[in-house]
Amino acid sequence: MLKLAIQKSGRLYEDSIGLLKSCSIGVSNGGGRLRAVADSFPLEVFFLRDDDIPQYVEDGVADCGIVGENVVFEKNKHVEVIEPLGFGRCRLSLAVPKSAKYNGVHSLEGARIATSYPQILGDFLRKNGVQADLHEISGSVEIAPSIGLADCICDLVSTGSTLISNGLREVETVLESQAVLVSSQNLPSEKQALLDKLLFRIRAVKKSKNHKYILLNAPNDCLPDIIRILPGMKSPTVLPLAEVGWSSVHSVVQEDRFWDIIEDLKANGAQGILVVPIEKMIL
Ligand code: ATP
Ligand code: ZN
Repeated sequence: MLKLAIQKSGRLYEDSIGLLKSCSIGVSNGGGRLRAVADSFPLEVFFLRDDDIPQYVEDGVADCGIVGENVVFEKNKHVEVIEPLGFGRCRLSLAVPKSAKYNGVHSLEGARIATSYPQILGDFLRKNGVQADLHEISGSVEIAPSIGLADCICDLVSTGSTLISNGLREVETVLESQAVLVSSQNLPSEKQALLDKLLFRIRAVKKSKNHKYILLNAPNDCLPDIIRILPGMKSPTVLPLAEVGWSSVHSVVQEDRFWDIIEDLKANGAQGILVVPIEKMIL
């Protein structure tokens, strides 16, 4: 059985459970249990604090885990990062009081900086040739300047609204982060085979989220142009409509090119365009 560590509660919990669910793996931690066996996949899930996940994976107590890159880099344990998961996106940023002067990283020389990420920040400052006085605190970092504990902070940000409401201004991104799947190094082959199976499902789900299935009708004389616009996975499906001289075209399009493609299709005679989500995509 493969042992996977995920966050017990917090920002990564829902998306981690949701990812497993979209891989057809059901898990419940009903009653705040610390471990649960999944249905329909040989997987045991451990519910842990995110900070502890890299250590558990390094020690082999868990074979793999879902955790933010920020935690992976800060803890610096011997784990393999195997797949970015596209959720839990945030950035580790430096922020200074709104009215403070800032003209680049060198403005931080000698400053007292409060952070929960002394390793990542320390590396960043070293690379930039800046010496500062780091104060490690584990939470509520954003209030440190207003209570006189520090001159500025380095903390996780997603929208930036917490910084603004604490009178702070974001000045530098130290790290961009998202949730990743990590695994122990040198897994035994039967565990590796299960991890590969899980990874295959995760990749199929991720791919499907970037693509849409598209259906449209068009007069037959427009088909060559429409087929040129819609490359599809191999090539589009073309089916005759009951009305003579018309066809239905089905294909797959990438989300990021989606609106351009729709405009192009309309300009080339497509009508009745339907767009539907894809649940899984295996190439
Ligand atoms: P735990 O009790 O597990 O230690 P925590 O308080 O450290 O929880 P959360 O605030 O739930 O952690 O954040 C978990 C992860 O979510 C972070 O490590 C980071 O990767 C990601 N994340 C995404 N957006 C944000 C954000 N705005 N602030 C903090 N973390 C974020
Ligand atoms: Zn944590």
